Amino acid sequence: MNCTECDAGLSVPTDAMKGEIISCKDCGTSYELMRDEGSGQFSIRPAELEEEDWGE
Ligand SMILES: [Zn+2]
Repeated sequence: MNCTECDAGLSVPTDAMKGEIISCKDCGTSYELMRDEGSGQFSIRPAELEEEDWGE
């Protein structure tokens, strides 16, 4: 999969976990890994880096 900001390739560890945060090496954009339970395929969504989720 590629970065949606700069289209650089994103490397996802084979043992990545759902909810893991990965960052684009080129532009630094952070993404949260989502996993489709049906296909087992990973997808990404932009991770908000605002300081908001300090526990609920
Ligand atoms: Zn990027």
